[in-house]
Amino acid sequence: MSDLPEGVERRAFEGDERLATRGEPHYGEPTDGEYRAWNPDRSKLGAMLELGMDTGLVGDEAVLYLGAASGTTASHVADFAGPTYGVEFAARPVRDLLDAAEPRENLFPLLKDARKPETYAHVVEPVDAIVQDVATRGQAKVATANAEFLREDGRLLLAIKARSEDVTRDPADVFDDALAELESVYEVLETRRLTPHHDDHLGVVATPR
Ligand code: SAM
Repeated sequence: MSDLPEGVERRAFEGDERLATRGEPHYGEPTDGEYRAWNPDRSKLGAMLELGMDTGLVGDEAVLYLGAASGTTASHVADFAGPTYGVEFAARPVRDLLDAAEPRENLFPLLKDARKPETYAHVVEPVDAIVQDVATRGQAKVATANAEFLREDGRLLLAIKARSEDVTRDPADVFDDALAELESVYEVLETRRLTPHHDDHLGVVATPR
């Protein structure tokens, strides 16, 4: 089981040991007034940590988060990381993402399309980690298109949702194709199915070639 990043702890909430980060509650999650529970059933990165994947995260790193949605996971990331750039292309969830950023001065919401990194390249600095959870077709392509932001020894922490690529195919085949596409740009270090937290999702840890 890998170490958790600094700033992520296991704490008791309602009698259960749960992952937790220190920060303002954002989506009605249990809090003890200082730490708030991070539910792996609602977060692919939370599931990757819960399942003991070696994310390489130590805390305080610069992060590019692709598919930030309303900030459920991005808010936890900003609690323990350094500058956290949250890219989301749907306007509606970005409103909630802005609320998450209000008490977190290191969280920067960007209403942008992750398939067009050139539209935010002037804002985003080189990062130590890319966290990606876009759940749309072409997930490997999004990851390779954004590799330019990742430092040489950085980590891509990717969740691939099989059904977003093709609902009719066997997820194992979808994952194989996505990994083959990633390999042109990244070395894949670890993969793991995210069950029981997320069905037909593959967690991937990779580093630039
Ligand atoms: N990561 C979020 C969390 O844990 O809180 C949930 C993300 S949700 C599964 C996927 C999100 O990716 C959606 O909000 C969707 O609008 C966004 N998305 C999909 N394609 C995108 C793209 N090309 N650029 C930016 N956001 C995208």
